[in-house]
Amino acid sequence: MVRIYNSLSKQLEDFIPIKENEVLMYVCGPTVYDRMHIGNSRPVIFFDTVTRFFRYLGYKVTYVSNFTDIDDKIIARAQASGISEEEVSEHYIKEIKTTYQRLNCLPHEYNPRVTETIPEIINFISALIEKGGAYVVDGDVYFDCAKVQEYGILSSQTIENLINGARIEANEKKNNPIDFTLWKKTSEGLSWPSPWSVGRPGWHTECVVMIDSIFKGKIDIHGGGTDLKFPHHDNEIAQSICSHDHMVANYWIHSGLIDASGEKMSKSIGNVVWADDLLDRVPYQVYRLMMLNVPYRQPLNYKEELLDQAQSDYEKIKRAFNGLFRKVEESGNEGLSETDEELNALKEEFTKAMSDDFNTANALTAIFKAVKMANIFVREKDSDLTRMRTLLNLFTDFLWVFGIETGVKPLTREERDLVNRYQQARRQKNYQLSDKLREEIIERGLDL
Ligand SMILES: [Zn+2]
Repeated sequence: MVRIYNSLSKQLEDFIPIKENEVLMYVCGPTVYDRMHIGNSRPVIFFDTVTRFFRYLGYKVTYVSNFTDIDDKIIARAQASGISEEEVSEHYIKEIKTTYQRLNCLPHEYNPRVTETIPEIINFISALIEKGGAYVVDGDVYFDCAKVQEYGILSSQTIENLINGARIEANEKKNNPIDFTLWKKTSEGLSWPSPWSVGRPGWHTECVVMIDSIFKGKIDIHGGGTDLKFPHHDNEIAQSICSHDHMVANYWIHSGLIDASGEKMSKSIGNVVWADDLLDRVPYQVYRLMMLNVPYRQPLNYKEELLDQAQSDYEKIKRAFNGLFRKVEESGNEGLSETDEELNALKEEFTKAMSDDFNTANALTAIFKAVKMANIFVREKDSDLTRMRTLLNLFTDFLWVFGIETGVKPLTREERDLVNRYQQARRQKNYQLSDKLREEIIERGLDL
């Protein structure tokens, strides 16, 4: 049984899917006006790992993440660069998708965009107005927060506190300072005709509409960074209660933020680390390990030491895995020892850690037990071949859940011949020849 810390109930809960053996999951995606920084990449890697783990357990996972391609920041970027908003968003969507791939993330089932969801959004807002949950002022449409008793439930705030705490805004059109925009009348940037004005939708309404149009109802998991809890996710919940009588998702999962050496990462301070820049420096495997080494709800304090640790972890994992891979390959043995107690316990340990609110840090401990066992198998002369192959399968699965591939491939006949000649030269202490063959082996990128 997978247990999840539900941000909505603030406790660990058993995961019970809406449809048997299926996971319906939505994670808020980026606003496409800039590249992805490492803070944005944490939920990307984490929810990819969640998807992988559910698939490893045999669930069918439908993972949807949107692109916000209408926003003031996109307009500003377009004006500053002298290009259209579409050009800005196309450019960054392409770039961000490439970064997803570089991080070895599995493709999402859908990446809906706001510009492709306008008719659905207009219908949704119309229905909210009809239900009395939204009101029109001079062509703008606002959500009426006071109409939803549970408003603020996710971030544990009450309407009274929020109103008292709200700064007096210049916008006096609203009934209430906390009411948020569903439709904005505007002549600036991309706009669409609507029953209220020519304008565009507000950010908080798009995810609710996308979820409902793709999944046709409530989903299992809604995810995002913890900075989205308020107001974005509380606003999603309020609209959904008003419109669909449910809270969007049964489980709300939020990943912690990233700061840089104790300081908030921000463009104004100039300490932002871009995902692609880091990927130019270290392999994606190291990047993912650095993220997964810290439990997802904790803040991650990015510093070089974390990267060094992940680098050294990955080298150990790679060496052990590839060594085991080659030895199993050489043995040609096909059997598996499915009743082996030690190996079953290892599998259990990994699965238990991941089932405990996706505790990747503890799952990594299980991976290191696999490293240790692999090294023993590789070292010993008379290793049990079926146990060795069973460990290789387990090890492969663990690394797959973490989204890590070491790149080792079965040798071709020619490569095998090369390796044999190298080993023979070494046995015969013909170091001149063995060095030369070794060079060739490295050149071909083969792991020994
Ligand atoms: Zn969202």
